[in-house]
Amino acid sequence: MRTLGLLGGMSWESTLPYYRLLNERVRERLGGLHSAKLLLYSVDFAEIEALQHRGEWEAAGEILADAAVRLQNAGAQALVICTNTMHRVAAQVEAATSVPLLHIAEATARRIHVAGMRSVGLLGTRFTMEQAFYRERLERSGLQVVVPDAHARERIHAVIYDELCMGVIREESRAYYRQAIEALVGQGAQGVILGCTEIALLIGADDAAVPLFDTARIHAEDAADWAMESGA
Ligand code: GLU
Repeated sequence: MRTLGLLGGMSWESTLPYYRLLNERVRERLGGLHSAKLLLYSVDFAEIEALQHRGEWEAAGEILADAAVRLQNAGAQALVICTNTMHRVAAQVEAATSVPLLHIAEATARRIHVAGMRSVGLLGTRFTMEQAFYRERLERSGLQVVVPDAHARERIHAVIYDELCMGVIREESRAYYRQAIEALVGQGAQGVILGCTEIALLIGADDAAVPLFDTARIHAEDAADWAMESGA
């Protein structure tokens, strides 16, 4: 089994499920006491979040690139950025390292194609819903992507940073996300991407009439499969 290098802590509330999901996938496939080989570099999310909201992506990318180099030097054979938003700096991380980066949007797009869908809704931070880095990956694979309107994007973003990343789950926010999903379905979405690794802490399959694609789960499963590809 190959060793994964996780860039986590963005937020740690969603890095916890990553750790569990990676290990569950390995146990499911290999059985017994098998578990995932991995290294975790967990950042101080307050530093990253401040840079994101000031638009200082280059500086945020430097922090992740530095962490990625440390993971590679410690033996990581592939990198897993445990957040959708920070794939905004994926190219900077890739440029600093020589091991593959297992991209969350690519893993998600593959899963959606397997499900036979063409049109999907996207929920996530404003950065993920509005900037090209994420949507383009999906669109390049042939998917049509619909996002909520500007007002809804603002509220969805606020719930992520002010609640979910702080471990706060509010019924009112769950109801709002349900409505947002319904609106995306009304715009033609056949399924909805939970394109922020914390959203599955709030919303599950029962909250929607269409399939939901939980990016944390998909990414963790994809990475575990990659690690197991080369055998023992
Ligand atoms: N974990 C979230 C995501 O998947 C948001 C936090 C962040 O900005 O990294 O986008």
